[in-house]
Amino acid sequence: MIRLSGLRFTYGDGDFELRIPELTIERGERVAVVGPSGSGKTTLLHLIAGIATPTGGSVSTLGCGLAALSDAQRRDLRIKRIGLVFQEFELLDNLLVPYRINAALRLDAAVRARAEALAIRVGIGDKLARGAGRLSQGERQRVAVCRALITEPELLLADEPTGNLDPSNKGRVLDILLEYAEQRGATLVTVTHDHDLLPRFARTIDFKSFAQ
Ligand code: ADP
Ligand code: MG
Repeated sequence: MIRLSGLRFTYGDGDFELRIPELTIERGERVAVVGPSGSGKTTLLHLIAGIATPTGGSVSTLGCGLAALSDAQRRDLRIKRIGLVFQEFELLDNLLVPYRINAALRLDAAVRARAEALAIRVGIGDKLARGAGRLSQGERQRVAVCRALITEPELLLADEPTGNLDPSNKGRVLDILLEYAEQRGATLVTVTHDHDLLPRFARTIDFKSFAQ
């Protein structure tokens, strides 16, 4: 379902090079990705999502070879089938943002009901009417998770979703991601620095294993 082969990636003329000879993540797997800061974990998620394009080798996501897709097709794949939880909180003012910015998605009463149910599920139901600036970091991160789940994606890519959260919010965010993946049979790839959370994942991919 996700397959990287002979992957190489560099940013322009920069010194950094990511090399991943082979990596396969099966449908429904729940995987943690660990590695030192700057080793390319975020870059890996961007390559899987088709946000970044490899310098060499191939990336196949949800059974689609990304190189064969046009930019529009890659964007459609990302919008319709992938949920992204970014490390930085962007566009958090509204968890319906995916529906407002993508003509490919239809915002109807069922979506609104799902948004409300999700917000209640994560304990921010009463805060929906407030601006994101007045939410705590834990609340903002839960909004980011809701935004990733709202389209019911088959693949969830989460970039340090529990970073900077207190232990109870960490557990809560991870519970939501794992519970969603299990219920939907979705694949979950989570970058994390929290080694105490690793036992909750079936598999850990360590960037050290890619070092030549
Ligand atoms: P990680 O998520 O493991 O901390 P990243 O994937 O963010 O690592 O970054 C890997 C390397 O690529 C780092 O050396 C970083 O400085 C560099 N890098 C990240 N984004 C860019 C960019 N847009 N342009 C140039 N270099 C970048
Ligand atoms: Mg990163």
